[in-house]
Amino acid sequence: MISTEDLKAHTYQLLANRGVTVEDIAELVMFTQSQYSPNLTIEVCIASVHSVLNKREVHNAIITGVELDMLAERNQLSQPLQDIVQHDTGLFGIDEILAFSIVNLYGSIGFTNYGYLDKVKPGIIKTLDNKTEGRCNTFLDDLVGAIAAAAAGRIAHNRPD
Ligand code: MG
Repeated sequence: MISTEDLKAHTYQLLANRGVTVEDIAELVMFTQSQYSPNLTIEVCIASVHSVLNKREVHNAIITGVELDMLAERNQLSQPLQDIVQHDTGLFGIDEILAFSIVNLYGSIGFTNYGYLDKVKPGIIKTLDNKTEGRCNTFLDDLVGAIAAAAAGRIAHNRPD
């Protein structure tokens, strides 16, 4: 059985391999929270992202979603799942359902943040959403939004007011 520490290291490696840094996710946290917390710093956002990335539910969601993205890129899924994941078919919804396992880790405010990030698609989410030939981030864009949403929820719930 893989240890939580190994699973965590693997999760960080997967994100790095897919071109997502902790700083990228922290920028999304900042984007959702700066209007409510004017003194919020990027360091606090980074620390909050690391807290979210400590959780086993998050490791499990990321290794599952990124695996499906990578298999779709290599044309290795069976049909009809290959076409659905490869083309990010709108009515699929399982990418979002997987992301929901992360969103509410620090309370329901994460859900609001997630919806906002999904609508506006700032920063790295926009980059991941771009349909570059040969790349598939059907699961990853939602997972990254969910990590940021949970990290933002964590900050919001720790706010004294
Ligand atoms: Mg998606």
